[in-house]
Amino acid sequence: MLRIEDLHAEVDGKPILKGLTLALNAGEIHAIMGPNGAGKSTLAYVLGGRPGYEVTGGAVTFNGEDLLAMEPHERAAAGLFLGFQYPVEIPGVSNVQFLRTALNAQRRQRGEEELSGAEFLKLARTQADALGLSMDMLKRPVNVGFSGGEKKRNEMVQMGIIDPKLAILDETDSGLDIDALRTVGEGINRIMRTPDKAVLLITHYQRLLDYVRPDFVHVLAAGRIVRSGGPELAHELEREGYGAIAA
Ligand code: ADP
Ligand code: MG
Ligand code: MG
Repeated sequence: MLRIEDLHAEVDGKPILKGLTLALNAGEIHAIMGPNGAGKSTLAYVLGGRPGYEVTGGAVTFNGEDLLAMEPHERAAAGLFLGFQYPVEIPGVSNVQFLRTALNAQRRQRGEEELSGAEFLKLARTQADALGLSMDMLKRPVNVGFSGGEKKRNEMVQMGIIDPKLAILDETDSGLDIDALRTVGEGINRIMRTPDKAVLLITHYQRLLDYVRPDFVHVLAAGRIVRSGGPELAHELEREGYGAIAA
């Protein structure tokens, strides 16, 4: 589904990704762990097509297509979803307006019919219920005044409504208490743990992986994957730190 080969990228002329190679198949969940400043968020931004993140080498294909040649909205319509470490607040735009606009734009891009207001609200209610967010919150401006945990749960509601093929989730667990962590973990499993989908889960800590069990764990350090293994690698990192592996 996603094939990253020898990817090099820089920000403000500073090389951050330095030859990153990684492949994900449908049905797989991959965790990326690594020390602060390793380039984890940069990888997520590059895959999402964020301006200012310049690819200087390598290739990325998404379902066989050249991802790097696609505009960000084309990547989204093709089924790519990005969850951010720091979800943005959008004053003046309600979650419902925002999500219905995003979903229908993607459906048009794919040549599918738009959802009516009623159809959309039904879908939104189902996803909000599953994540324990009230419809009142979905009617409020995007993330404005939401707690950290509410923002992350709202992000899972967004993911459930958008129903992507590939989710790249950047520190979705940061700032969550134990109950919110379980809810978010269950959300990821429910929405994404199917044979036709894949997840790239970026996390500092092992604890989210107790809820979302990865098929593969990779260590990203200094802009490259320096080690890959199974779920046990996350436990080893938790015990021994990144120092021994990433040095
Ligand atoms: P991680 O998510 O693994 O903590 P990041 O991808 O956020 O790492 O950052 C990787 C490196 O890129 C860090 O050294 C960081 O300081 C640098 N960096 C990130 N964004 C910018 C930017 N906008 N301008 C300059 N340097 C940046
Ligand atoms: Mg960081
Ligand atoms: Mg980061």
